[in-house]
Amino acid sequence: MVIAKAWALKKHFDGFPKTSDFDLKKIELPNLKDGGEEKLLLESVFLSVDPYMRPYSRRDMKEGDIMIGTQVARIVESKNPAFTVGAFVVAGRGWRTHFISDGKDLQLLPSNWPESLPKSLALGTVGMPGLTAYFGLLEVCKMKPGETVLVNAAAGAVGSVVGQLAKIGGCKVVGSAGSDDKVAYLKKIGFDEAFNYKTVKSLDEALRKASPDGYDCFFDNVGGEFASVAINQMKKYGRIAVCGAISQYNDYVPQKGPYVQLPMIFKELQMEGFLVTRWNNRREEGLQALLKWVMEGKVKCHEQVTEGFENMPMAFIRMLKGENLGKAVVKV
Ligand code: NDP
Repeated sequence: MVIAKAWALKKHFDGFPKTSDFDLKKIELPNLKDGGEEKLLLESVFLSVDPYMRPYSRRDMKEGDIMIGTQVARIVESKNPAFTVGAFVVAGRGWRTHFISDGKDLQLLPSNWPESLPKSLALGTVGMPGLTAYFGLLEVCKMKPGETVLVNAAAGAVGSVVGQLAKIGGCKVVGSAGSDDKVAYLKKIGFDEAFNYKTVKSLDEALRKASPDGYDCFFDNVGGEFASVAINQMKKYGRIAVCGAISQYNDYVPQKGPYVQLPMIFKELQMEGFLVTRWNNRREEGLQALLKWVMEGKVKCHEQVTEGFENMPMAFIRMLKGENLGKAVVKV
């Protein structure tokens, strides 16, 4: 018999999440039975902490529920021939150290996953955030070679891939991030222009200086004031992919305009919100493309690894505060 540890939402977040909003629980897992539905025992090896957990917790969870989320897990015991003991999968079973599955909710890592590549990347560059960058750029921004792409939260899990894929696609790339170290990282991984949005005197000027001719594509991870300023610097027929709105997730009161209609009309812009799950049927295509670029060294990955399952709430809070460079993950 295995006792799993799991983090529950003790109290709905009120403004910025606090460690006291979480509760560590112990859950007794039943032994696997021959012929039963539940044929696999898994242990989480890496767990993801993501911005979506903040707004989705309010929408989808009640107090006492185990926190939502995704992990890379190892099969510890199997009575299902499709899954061998020792195999690694991606699962969406929330903040738990161990769990039982019938296999239907598990995705094996791509069979050509190189031994040398950290499996945690299946939660980042070669996982959901990488796919968000891939489909958001190709299908929503519809970037073309020679265009200028703007991305904010650029040193994070999604943003760092957006910038690198736009470079592969022959674009000029401008990124913004919240520290000088992050800006230095962006330049190191090939961004043409990068600035610290927290220290520039004027966001408007910083955007204008980085691309005096304006922007064809804007991959928006942040929303709010940044987006309101950036929209005025779009080129005619520009495309805006509304990926995230992290500047608003912890707000008590919804932010107010400036409103988007005038620049949308005068510049004939397209603005489209999207969820990466829209392309679930093309997941394999996206993962293979990302895996290839990572292995060729064309896409660099950085991870912010927090050690210890007990530190999950802290890792989540730090990510929301911007303390992560690249993908924030927890190693159990
Ligand atoms: P990141 O790794 O980018 O981590 C979050 C980052 O957001 C922080 O590091 C911080 O960077 C920045 N940030 C936090 N608060 C603010 C703020 N008030 N204003 C501006 N920036 C802030 O996370 P992800 O790459 O996983 O996610 C990026 C965005 O993409 C999120 O909005 C997320 O919800 C969205 N997303 C959407 C998906 C979809 O299907 N539509 C799928 C996955 C993610 P900094 O230091 O630069 O401020």
